[in-house]
Amino acid sequence: MDSRDDCDWRDGREFDEIYHILGTQWTAPTLVLPARCPRCDTMTVHLFFHRNPYNDGKTGGGWAWCSQCRGFGHGLWKIPEWWLDMPDLPDNALLFAPIIMDQIAKRIDAHWNRVRAAYRHQV
Ligand SMILES: [Zn+2]
Repeated sequence: MDSRDDCDWRDGREFDEIYHILGTQWTAPTLVLPARCPRCDTMTVHLFFHRNPYNDGKTGGGWAWCSQCRGFGHGLWKIPEWWLDMPDLPDNALLFAPIIMDQIAKRIDAHWNRVRAAYRHQV
């Protein structure tokens, strides 16, 4: 089995540093993705939110992962006001592990940077 197989994503306490980057996003408005990984020191951290349409969209899923060291965190989040769901997200992308998301990480980063910058210009 290839070492970069889909199944090699890992979550757990040792990756909390990566997951915590997602939680700082209300106070770090200038963060541009990809971000530096606190574990492997490469610019390979990606962040993503997706609103749950069944609870008025105020909460949803949040993901943070590093493409290099393959650590991730995922959980239920209060979605930040500035976030807009990615319109062209593949149907199968919202898995627990960021298997599909990592394959489109460049598009996800571009989306994040675009909506984040658009919000900054409103305030
Ligand atoms: Zn890393």
